[in-house]
Amino acid sequence: MLQAKTKDGRTITLATMNHESIIKLKATGTLYYCPVCGKQVIMKVGIKTIPHFAHKSTADCPSYKGGEGVYHEQGKLMLYQWLMRHNMKVELEVFLPEIQQRPDILVTWNNRRIAIEYQCARVPDKIIKLRNEGYQSVGIIPIWIAGATLFTRYQANSFRIDQFTKQLMQQYNPQMPPVLYYFCPHTAQLAILQDIFITTSTQAIGKLHISALEKRKFTDLFHLQSFTNTELQLLWQKQKYKFRHAQGRKAYGNELTWRRWLYSKGFHLENLPSIIHLPIATQYRMKIPLWNWQSKVCLEIIDPLPMKGLFSIGECQHLLFRQQYNSNYFPLCISQTTPVQEYLRLLERLQVIQKVSKDVYKKFQPITFYHHIEEAVQGDNQLVKELFSQKSNIIRA
Ligand SMILES: [Zn+2]
Repeated sequence: MLQAKTKDGRTITLATMNHESIIKLKATGTLYYCPVCGKQVIMKVGIKTIPHFAHKSTADCPSYKGGEGVYHEQGKLMLYQWLMRHNMKVELEVFLPEIQQRPDILVTWNNRRIAIEYQCARVPDKIIKLRNEGYQSVGIIPIWIAGATLFTRYQANSFRIDQFTKQLMQQYNPQMPPVLYYFCPHTAQLAILQDIFITTSTQAIGKLHISALEKRKFTDLFHLQSFTNTELQLLWQKQKYKFRHAQGRKAYGNELTWRRWLYSKGFHLENLPSIIHLPIATQYRMKIPLWNWQSKVCLEIIDPLPMKGLFSIGECQHLLFRQQYNSNYFPLCISQTTPVQEYLRLLERLQVIQKVSKDVYKKFQPITFYHHIEEAVQGDNQLVKELFSQKSNIIRA
């Protein structure tokens, strides 16, 4: 921790003092105490680390978050100093007794309280969820900034996403896909990853902006920038291509079960209609990849229907009931729609189905299957182009 208290209640922040004063202070032999649990803490002063305090034993202090080291302390301090320089009202490591939580930084802005958590260690998603619920129960908005060590980039716009990083995603606006933040104290750079679309069970694409923290304002965190239609079109065509050519790759677990199911229906990847594997902003709520659940909707519900045959959203939801997280599983994402609703809306705009009433659709076009992979790839490119080249991109409409 960056702060500790003296016996007479003064708060000491070593990191804001120069080395000489720290050495002097150390020589006085003053004792320091944890502001949360009241136990004695010791000064940690080295040449390469941020001067801070540490518990002799962290086991029973409610402020202990586990696994956070020097990297975390340094990043937290830099973020704090950045906000101070922008004249924000900020508090460092303040303990909130009503929820027994201690955000890294608490910002008061426009009469709102915002807890900034700089998260560098991978912890069980249950812990993130509990902390979010704690903040939200007292009207505090949590914002997670992940340590850059948790960021794995594959290509310019493609990066790793997992159950843990999904928990840190924020969706401020139901019309926009979620956002992630990463900060590296070594390079002093802040990365904002916006317009995130999950592509496989471990990967996503997103619009990445990296810049020096110094060049950012706090409000930049909410300044959303998205892909252009052309960018999304090219990225998704690439995803489709990869999907079509996945046949040769070994499959395990869910993927293997899905391939067997597909095979039992008499299909291969290259036969599938292009409307399977479409981008969905709320995909984070699904436990299985896009192609898996979208093929269930297409092949089990829509395809067997006669033309103009009816089906309901409820039927699709029921079919995928076990494959979805509850809406409250991601408390930072405010979208009201489910992935299934989003998907059916896309199919409606592509004129595969037509809306009959609030919950009922009718089949409007036969579903076309391909005979070979070249034909499929061509069909995919055409469909993705249609998806993104309309004046108002139908993914976002
Ligand atoms: Zn303590």
